[in-house]
Amino acid sequence: MVSEGEHVVVIGGAGFLGSHVCERLLRYGYRVTCVDSLITGSADNVSQLRHDRGFRFVELDVTRPLSEWPELPGGSVLHLASPASPKDYRRLPVETLRVGAIGTENALELASRHGARFLLASTSEVYGDPAEHPQSESYWGNVNPVGPRSVYDEAKRYAEALTLAYHRERGTDVAVARIFNTYGPRMRSGDGRLVPNFVTQALSGAALTVAGTGTQTRSLCYVDDTVSGLLALWRSDLTGPVNIGNPHELSVRHLAEEIRALTGTDSPITFIPGAVDDPRRRCPDITLARTALGWEPEIDLREGLRRTIAWFARHTVPAVSAAPL
Ligand code: NAD
Ligand code: UDP
Repeated sequence: MVSEGEHVVVIGGAGFLGSHVCERLLRYGYRVTCVDSLITGSADNVSQLRHDRGFRFVELDVTRPLSEWPELPGGSVLHLASPASPKDYRRLPVETLRVGAIGTENALELASRHGARFLLASTSEVYGDPAEHPQSESYWGNVNPVGPRSVYDEAKRYAEALTLAYHRERGTDVAVARIFNTYGPRMRSGDGRLVPNFVTQALSGAALTVAGTGTQTRSLCYVDDTVSGLLALWRSDLTGPVNIGNPHELSVRHLAEEIRALTGTDSPITFIPGAVDDPRRRCPDITLARTALGWEPEIDLREGLRRTIAWFARHTVPAVSAAPL
């Protein structure tokens, strides 16, 4: 995938996933405008890109009226802005709903006015605590609309509906990616998610905090694979939604054991209360991405965890020992 300087606006580009998207696009020769309010992201995530002449950073809350936005270039819009960890969106419930609703509408308007392609970073959370397993795109989900996770789940469900409404009513060229749990370098050690918590705890000798029984499952995709999937969807003519994730499913308890083994830590495992409405299992059916995009994950869990652990070891952080949820 090589570009002759085509422009891409990456909203939420200073976050974990967004910064990897910006980096990859620049490597392929695109010019990138990274738009971010830094509410859960960090300028450090893109500091290595600032020397690149094709890169520009704009600090902006995308829920502000579009009339107040600075002039942005006319290329594709990749919308990744949203608090994404359960700890973040529980701390920022209204902001999460607003960025999913108003932020998405503004981003769609921008793409629509420029006749550009729009990609929404949606989530496996639209499936809630799924009654179907594995989850394919045709499953409508099982979401508690008023529980503590609802601010995120419903914001993303609304964002998907709005994206498809722009497509149907205005002919906007759109794509919806349903991203499953992604991990890798540049996750914040304090963001409360499974991998950064366990890795930080293991590296600092603190107990690994397994929530509930630890039998709940997740399917973890290494960030480089997720970025490849997102960009493959963006460059296709698919509308989606399309699941982007790694179908290798494992229990939270099993993951804790893997990380203990890979770090060689003596840290014990401790059990903490489970989160309200915590999905009991989650695994993507990626048949559509495989067949229509020719994409599937390439990096297995151990290799991805090794790279992630190495990154966290170089960016030493204080222990996370308190209950994360
Ligand atoms: P993140 O918190 O690291 O990144 C989100 C970025 O959006 C941050 O830089 C934040 O500052 C920015 N942002 C939030 N609200 C904003 C606003 N109003 N205006 C401008 N910028 C704003 O999270 P992430 O893990 O990188 O997730 C990125 C996207 O991918 C999110 O939309 C998330 O819902 C989606 N997603 C991520 C995963 C995952 O496992 N990482 C899984 C499914 C979906
Ligand atoms: N979890 C855990 N210990 C932690 C952090 C998370 O056992 O320190 C569990 C959490 O309860 C959930 C799973 O790991 O069952 C994944 O949580 P995460 O916050 O990473 O993302 P989610 O998939 O719930 O959005």
